[in-house]
Amino acid sequence: MKGIRKISPYIPGEQPSDPTMIKLNTNENPYPPSKNVERALKAFETDQLKRYSSVDNVALKQALAAKHNLTPENFLIGNGSDEVLAFCFLAFFNSSDPILFPDITYGFYKVWADLFKIPFKEIVLGKDFDINLNDYLQSNGGILFANPNAPTGIVKPLIEIKQLLKQNQDVIVIVDEAYIDFGGESAVMLLAEFPNLIIIRTFSKSSSLAGLRVGYAIGNPKYIRIAESIKASFNPYSVDSIAETLAIASVDDTEYYESVTQKICATRDWFSEQLKTLGFQFLPSKTNFLLVSHPNLAIEELYNYLVSHNVYVRYFPTVERLKNYLRISIGTQAEMETVVNLFKEFTDYI
Ligand SMILES: *Cc1c(COP(=O)(O)O)cnc(C)c1O
Repeated sequence: MKGIRKISPYIPGEQPSDPTMIKLNTNENPYPPSKNVERALKAFETDQLKRYSSVDNVALKQALAAKHNLTPENFLIGNGSDEVLAFCFLAFFNSSDPILFPDITYGFYKVWADLFKIPFKEIVLGKDFDINLNDYLQSNGGILFANPNAPTGIVKPLIEIKQLLKQNQDVIVIVDEAYIDFGGESAVMLLAEFPNLIIIRTFSKSSSLAGLRVGYAIGNPKYIRIAESIKASFNPYSVDSIAETLAIASVDDTEYYESVTQKICATRDWFSEQLKTLGFQFLPSKTNFLLVSHPNLAIEELYNYLVSHNVYVRYFPTVERLKNYLRISIGTQAEMETVVNLFKEFTDYI
């Protein structure tokens, strides 16, 4: 057949519907969203749904501007940060030079580049799985990476990001901060100095709203306007009215979300200690997940053992360098205790 598109899609973690499973495979937050979200949902007037949702999402932009000490013009809102990334790719990556991103990073970057036929070059991570920013000193049509990176969890200090922005002032540099609330320093403070910086954020991880599908870009108004025009050319009402209302309700409750984030980080540190005593190795994570391996255990068997006990983690058998690793999202303390017990059983039984 002529004219049919061939494409390798992004493959997300499984979403089984069994409510008793322990789901640690997509870096979701194990805790519920803020009570403000529940109240806003109950108060939402169904009648509002007869109207189209907001085109400019100004109410959510105002809430975010207050939170980040910026202006509403610094923000672009989308249906999940995946969509925001798509708008940014279309708006900013139109050079004939390749865009650069790490070979091991969020899988969607390559999918968007392929889908939009944007030339790209994957830069191999160092031996320690770290991004070496000197490797990005080559002609390029834009740069993109997650900070902290996924699925490694490793964070880059701002001083290095600043250097990268300085060296690449003629292209857009996108820093995806999906996990920044779990550790590391946000690049938001570099926006005033570097108009070439675009930051991507999501409500899916630290705000416990993965199912709501809201994400945003923060950047210089001049470039945000261009990404807005892509959104207007594609799906102007991409954020539905309920999603915008609930996202706004969540923004203010920093106290609740800080306590949730602290709990997750404390559990992450506890879980790391347990892993050490069981002989596991893992990368230093500033996120809500750990990339874990073990010198004497067959990772695939461990993965299957966990699945057989209704525990889902992420396994990347098709990525050569990750074949001996599992990415384990940090759940509640009780969930991680169950995982540690299963690891103990598994290591005993080997
Ligand atoms: C989860 C994740 C996203 C996607 O977030 P959504 O807002 O749910 O689309 C984007 N980037 C990275 C690095 C992520 O881990």
